[in-house]
Amino acid sequence: MGIRSEELGNTGTLMYPSRIKLPYIWHAGKAGSRFYRELKENRAIWGTRCSPCNRVFLPPREVCPRCLDENLDWVRLSDSGTLLTYTVVRYHVPGIQPQEPPYALGIIKLDGATSGFPHLLGEIEPERLKAGIRVQAVFREDRRGDYLDIQYFRPEKP
Ligand SMILES: [Zn+2]
Repeated sequence: MGIRSEELGNTGTLMYPSRIKLPYIWHAGKAGSRFYRELKENRAIWGTRCSPCNRVFLPPREVCPRCLDENLDWVRLSDSGTLLTYTVVRYHVPGIQPQEPPYALGIIKLDGATSGFPHLLGEIEPERLKAGIRVQAVFREDRRGDYLDIQYFRPEKP
């Protein structure tokens, strides 16, 4: 499979589809900053609860997306939860991948949270993955205050 080009009208010039890698900095906001700081400094996973909606968001939100309440409460969540669904990435794609394929990505509902939390899955063969299994966060030793301070989720040990 090669790069496809197409002519621009009848000018004889060619156009090629391409991508630009663009470094950028984004502001994590109040909720994101606290979330990442707690991961780094305390190995703690925090979400926010909207009392009127009785929902706990992870990653935490500053404003409830349903009722727009801005007075959400901080809630410390468990490191463990249930794998809702998953996929196994087997191919290299252009851009950044969190690790060399094959690797598994899952949506985890941590105990105490209402929303699913997307993350890497580890210490399990892809063939043994199953929705509904219990998983537990594995924290990096050299945490940096980012999403991958949780290295991955592994099957919960009895
Ligand atoms: Zn709400």
